Amino acid sequence: MKNRILERVDEMTEEIIDFTLDLIRIPTVNPPGENYRDCAELVRDRLRRFGFDVELSWSEGRPEHTSKHPRVNVVGRLQGLRDRPCLHLNGHVDVVPPGLGWSLDPFKGIVRDGRIYGRGSADMKAGLASAICAVESLRRAGVHLDGTVEISATVDEESGGFAGAAWLCEAGRIHSGNTDYVIIPEPLNVDRICIGHRGVYWFEIESLGRIAHGSMPFLGVNAIEGMSRVLEAIRDDLVPRLASRRTEMPVVPRDARRPTLNINSVVGGQPGQEFPTPCVADSCQATFDRRFLLEEDFTSVRAEVSELLNRVGRDFADGQLILRDLMVVDPVSTSTDCRLVRGLGNSVDEVLGRRPDFVASPGTYDHKHFFRVGGIEQCVAYGPGVLEQAHQPDEWCSIEDLVNATKALALSVQDLVGRKP
Ligand SMILES: [Zn+2]
Repeated sequence: MKNRILERVDEMTEEIIDFTLDLIRIPTVNPPGENYRDCAELVRDRLRRFGFDVELSWSEGRPEHTSKHPRVNVVGRLQGLRDRPCLHLNGHVDVVPPGLGWSLDPFKGIVRDGRIYGRGSADMKAGLASAICAVESLRRAGVHLDGTVEISATVDEESGGFAGAAWLCEAGRIHSGNTDYVIIPEPLNVDRICIGHRGVYWFEIESLGRIAHGSMPFLGVNAIEGMSRVLEAIRDDLVPRLASRRTEMPVVPRDARRPTLNINSVVGGQPGQEFPTPCVADSCQATFDRRFLLEEDFTSVRAEVSELLNRVGRDFADGQLILRDLMVVDPVSTSTDCRLVRGLGNSVDEVLGRRPDFVASPGTYDHKHFFRVGGIEQCVAYGPGVLEQAHQPDEWCSIEDLVNATKALALSVQDLVGRKP
């Protein structure tokens, strides 16, 4: 049976490549979220052709769902003998803007030297095509399903996934009451299974001073000076403290096995048209990206920042320092000992001839929604493409990876929900 499935995948190679190219040729650039409808219809039609019951799900009520840039998700269901176990394969359709530095057309869909090139080739249209074709290979191999397979193609992962995966989970379409396993074919390398990600805390610090004439700065309070004290304290105090912590999660690259803090932006003073105004800066804002570990909890992560501000604030007594939370995502981690991870690990081994490594992602992806909102504990990312290609100019995915990931996913579908021979 397994050989029959693997043969069907090999026979489907051209079809998998062509489907990936068709997806790349629809520029679903996010932000702002372009051409989602065209892409959803392409996925819907393909799933229907492959025997799925398919619904389009519009993200009604979400502020980013507008008439100019509507948000629409696709959910396909291939019903087996029973509803459970239910395996859900989820891929996001949005891609980040191409950016500069391309030597070829990012949306033409080009095959060259065994690679598929284009924005979204790795992250993650190859993964979506791979998941869909993996399930179809079982059908062509005559495998019947005991359980049920679902495939969703969702929007907005690159901007948080709130109108996409989160929306489907909140609507009750995907949750632990109807779904047992989730695999997200993100590009984490064909020989690695990603079990989760670190947490995120985005915050803004605003420094408020008092305006005065620039020729008499002693009459005012300079907000930029206040911010520079904050930045110094972060560099000298907080960052070394963070560097001394370690996580047990197998985060890659290794330098991300500790908490990190990035200064995203600093804006201050009163910029004039050509010259700065001759004033003491009365305000300065900075945004920060703090990534935290499974071993840290958000309350203490935030307290560390607010205590630092209190301390610095004592030397900036005439000014004011304000902390605002912008976004919080808790870390997630799936046990490597669960049914999903053991089964997928065996499937990868059967295809590649070696055990996969377990990794965790330094940044977040839709896993958080399936676990935090949907309550589904067994969720991993596994798919074709190398992580380093994501969001790069001349992004590519190797065809060999694409076929191998499809085989591993196909064996996994058979293992988790297929009828045993
Ligand atoms: Zn992605």
